[in-house]
Amino acid sequence: MNIILFGPNGSGKGTQGAILREKFSVRRIETGVIFRENVSGSTDIGRRAKIFIDRGELVPDDITIPMIMNRIKNPNFKNGWLLDGFPRNLTQAEALGMDIEREGINLDFVIEIIIDRDTAKNRIMGRRLCASENSHPNNISIDAIRPVEKHGALFCHVCGCETLTIRADDQDEAAIDKRLSIYFDTKTGTLAAVNYFKARMKVFEVHSFSEVQETSEHMMELLSCS
Ligand SMILES: [Zn+2]
Repeated sequence: MNIILFGPNGSGKGTQGAILREKFSVRRIETGVIFRENVSGSTDIGRRAKIFIDRGELVPDDITIPMIMNRIKNPNFKNGWLLDGFPRNLTQAEALGMDIEREGINLDFVIEIIIDRDTAKNRIMGRRLCASENSHPNNISIDAIRPVEKHGALFCHVCGCETLTIRADDQDEAAIDKRLSIYFDTKTGTLAAVNYFKARMKVFEVHSFSEVQETSEHMMELLSCS
């Protein structure tokens, strides 16, 4: 089973991706991991990537896409793969789509997690971390996992721990807005990439409910009806 999963930050893409990987026993293709492996293995393509990584620049598509294709064709990935976080824009979608087609690789599912931009932003900024157990999700913008409020203070809704912390990244509004702008750009951004696939195949639109399980059940129901 070969899957491309789209969804903005705050849509629960990471969690739904993990559920898909477990369900279909497929492996995740992560560009960060691929870069590191190619660089440490000193492959030709890794040496080219390193120049950009060392400068703190984005690795160009003509390096990234061949690396992803090598991974897709790797025998360790023959049971299937899940690609999320790539492609991020229309240009990447076109290049990757053409390579996949040329290599005769079957793309089983393209999935888009649907969430509106304001809701995504509120969910990112609403995340709170339980200091005693990081698997306790708390979010002030999601009713089902809202921290308990007592005397003006917030407590973990699972264990009652009184220390809830906030990741600095989750409050960096300028960075969040920038990422969401790239995602929601229908001309050249990630939604344009989604539309590239919609013009060629069925793309499963999964609504991002506030509860993880509701979203995953909805997603599995759609996929099983295909
Ligand atoms: Zn807790």
